This record gives sequence, structure tokens and C-alpha cells, in this order.
Amino acid sequence: MTAPLVEIRDVSKRFVRRLDLAGRIAQRLGADIHEETVHAVEGVSLSIAPGEVLGLVGESGCGKSTLGRVVAGIHAASEGHMLFQGRDVAGLSGAEKRAATLAIQMIFQDPFASLNPRMRVEDIIGEAPLMHGLVIKADWSGYVDDIMRKVGLDPSLKRRYAHQFSGGQRQRIGIARALAVQPEFLVCDEAIAALDVSIQAQVINLFMDLREELGLTYLFISHDLSVVEQIADRVAIMYLGRIVEIAPTEEIFADPRHPYTRALLAEAPRLDQRKRAFTPIEGEIPSPLDPPSGCAFHPRCPLAQDICRREVPVLQPGRDGRDTACHLEHETTAPQSA
Ligand code: SF4
Repeated sequence: MTAPLVEIRDVSKRFVRRLDLAGRIAQRLGADIHEETVHAVEGVSLSIAPGEVLGLVGESGCGKSTLGRVVAGIHAASEGHMLFQGRDVAGLSGAEKRAATLAIQMIFQDPFASLNPRMRVEDIIGEAPLMHGLVIKADWSGYVDDIMRKVGLDPSLKRRYAHQFSGGQRQRIGIARALAVQPEFLVCDEAIAALDVSIQAQVINLFMDLREELGLTYLFISHDLSVVEQIADRVAIMYLGRIVEIAPTEEIFADPRHPYTRALLAEAPRLDQRKRAFTPIEGEIPSPLDPPSGCAFHPRCPLAQDICRREVPVLQPGRDGRDTACHLEHETTAPQSA
């Protein structure tokens, strides 16, 4: 089996919500209010093989963007380890740390918000490779031109500003900026969600072409199952900070095992139905400030049993070898159907 390019082990990320001034005063006056902890990601372990596209799916607020930011090095994990090419990135320093930082790049949902409006496109794309010595000044202009061509942008427009481009072109500029530092791994966080449907297909094709051409590996985060079905080799389903099922894309769409995955797929719009809106399943996703006991899905699960309210199910191979975090999949008796 190929060694993973990226591996995360038991990663958790918690944010402490501090009291504001009014809260601190109220606390001093005796009010029963405290700092709160948001459990955004809890004990997630994943590995991604070189050249693989791993789709990460879940409802809004499930922690998938936070996990993506931890993987991309934007947030430090509260616990756990992130390994790149077999080495814990927290233990790297100097040139090794810089190389790992450049090798992992993130593409954001809103390209406009992530592009400096005062910089020309050539500087947005070319600043980092020049600064990190990936290109010398004499070759810089041609380097920027090549990257622009790679993402389908006309290099003659490189002296323009980001606001002079369409939404799809701006996302291409964001992709070009990431490619300019010669990454091996891209974390794409809802990278096509803000684009028109017709443009989405073009950008998906671009991601796939770049994978072929440059041997890129992706963590592709999306709430849109129809997009993930097109692009991913494997899919991980996330619910309230935890991975609840992970499997090759064809298997998970043909035969979802976890009750949450089944509910998501039952509601998921398919491309051939020309619907995009994701219809949330019944009930609200619980607050990560106060996650339910046991299986976090139990308040919404039609199959919940007593054990589900008491014990957190572990992600592990179930009766047929599928990795799921559901007590029913790990029982010896057959589960009821959803
Ligand atoms: Fe439903 Fe229980 Fe499985 Fe959670 S562990 S998904 S509550 S059956």
C-alpha cells in the first residue's frame, strides 16, 4: 500500500469563546455565566494517498472547514498530529517547515475576499514564488504567464486588478496563486460553492486537469454531494466534529451504511435532477458548544437505541469492512433498515 502523503491522527480543535466586557462585569456581579468551549473537531484521524482526492462532506457547522484549516496549517490543532510525507509538521523547523508550508495550499470559497484588491493579478500570483526564491526576477514575468495559462487565464490581463474579473476568473486567480508556489496538496474549502452552476463544471474540470498534469492531491470540502461524487476517489462524512463514515465514492453512494449518510443521500440533489439546493435532514444539527452525549447523531437518528445515548461510537470497520462510527454496524445482529 502506498504511504500516505497526508495523515492526521486524533486531531481535535476547540475554540474558547471568551466573555466580553459586559459578560465579565455580569460574572463579577455574580451572574452564572462562563467561557464556553466550541468542540469544532473531535478526534479525527484520516490519511490521504498521493494523487488521491478525498471528499469531506457534511452540513454547515459540522466542523469540516475547521478541519480543513487545521490540515492546511491555518489553525493549530488543540490535540493530535498532522503528518506530511510521514513527518509531523509540528516538529519541523527552518527550511523543512517552509517547504511543508508551501507544499500545502488552501483554496477558499470566496475568491474575492481572499485576493488583495490593491494588488495587480501578476503580483497576487507572483509575489510568493519570488519571495521564496522559486523563481528569479529575470524569469518572473514568464513564470506568471505560464501559471496563468495553466489555469485558463489570458496572461495579457495580468496587470489588471481582481475586481476587473468575473467570479469564475477570480477563482482561477486564487488557484493560480496557490499553484505558483508549486504545492503538492490542495485543501479546497467549498471552492466552487460561490460560482454559477455552468462555471462550477469548468472549475471542477480544471481541478481534475491539474491533478493529472501536476500530480496534485486534494482534500475537497463541500456540502454538495453531487459535486463530491464527480471529483472524489473516497468520501468522508462528517457530523458534529467527527467522521462517521468513510469509503470509496462509488461504494458510499451505492450503499451508504451510517444512518446519517443514508439521510444525507436520501436528501441529496443529483446533477441529473438539475437541483442544487441541499435540503437539510430533519432536525437541527446540535450545538458544538454542548454536543449530545454518546452518538452526537442520536437526537435525529431513527434507529437510536439506549447505547447510542451513552457511548460514543468509534470509527472502525463494521460487519462488511466499511469504516463507520455507528453501534449498529458493529453489532453481530443485522440492523433494522432506515
Ligand atoms: Fe443512530 Fe445509534 Fe448509529 Fe448513532 S450509533 S447513528 S444514534 S444507530
